[in-house]
Amino acid sequence: MSTTTTGSGDAQGATPMSGEAMITTRGLTKHYEMGAETVKALNGVDLEIRRNEYVAIMGPSGSGKSTLMNLIGCLDTPTSGEYILNGQAVQDLDDDELARIRNREIGFVFQTFNLLPRATALHNVELPLIYAGVGSKERQRRAAGALEQVALGDRMDHKPNELSGGQRQRVAIARALVNDPSIILADEPTGNLDSHTSAEIMQVFEDLRRSGQTVIMVTHEYGIAARAQRVITLVDGKISSHDAALPTEVGSHAF
Ligand code: ADP
Ligand code: MG
Repeated sequence: MSTTTTGSGDAQGATPMSGEAMITTRGLTKHYEMGAETVKALNGVDLEIRRNEYVAIMGPSGSGKSTLMNLIGCLDTPTSGEYILNGQAVQDLDDDELARIRNREIGFVFQTFNLLPRATALHNVELPLIYAGVGSKERQRRAAGALEQVALGDRMDHKPNELSGGQRQRVAIARALVNDPSIILADEPTGNLDSHTSAEIMQVFEDLRRSGQTVIMVTHEYGIAARAQRVITLVDGKISSHDAALPTEVGSHAF
């Protein structure tokens, strides 16, 4: 795919933030009302992520990692606080605008792949383009290109159950890439994969970063986080540390 961010350019009409911040959050909170109880999943997150950064998010189970990813990915809205994506204040957008940003600016990769079981790899990757209103010929051309980018050009007609776990995750990555989004968000993308396959998937993300993508990845594996440029650790819905990078030689202890 291209080394620039063509295709996602329209949201950049707004003045870019200082230092090319792609994502800025200020005092971001998310509270869930559960009957009489309030679950404070996020408690004031201040974050800045620049274009073409590769950031890992770590933290114990329940610390708010997925909640933060869902907010960054516009899958959910915060209880309070600000979120600026590409110079646009996301908290001010209505549902249609949010849906558009989600489709055009964000590529999401999940632990469980989330592919349509009866659809071929090609069709799975075409889906975001259908929502974006792209015509059928162009859709197939772009979906095939994204699959080739993740080295699955020879598996386009396979359904998920005719693919290995690593291949399924690569289809999901191709689907995340196909709209040429501003950011790729991956929530424990190697959580269901063996270590050899995980390494292969990590290589795909590193290649994407090298070709200009911004990547944010949740992981609880130290060895995976160590490959990012920067690691953010969440504890109890707050950032407890920002590390420039982890030393890579320590091994792959689980968090
Ligand atoms: P992590 O991904 O770090 O394991 P989550 O962001 O999934 O953590 O969850 C943070 C906290 O918010 C947890 O206590 C969880 O139970 C709670 N939580 C997450 N989603 C919801 C929801 N939809 N409704 C109520 N509570 C939730
Ligand atoms: Mg989670």
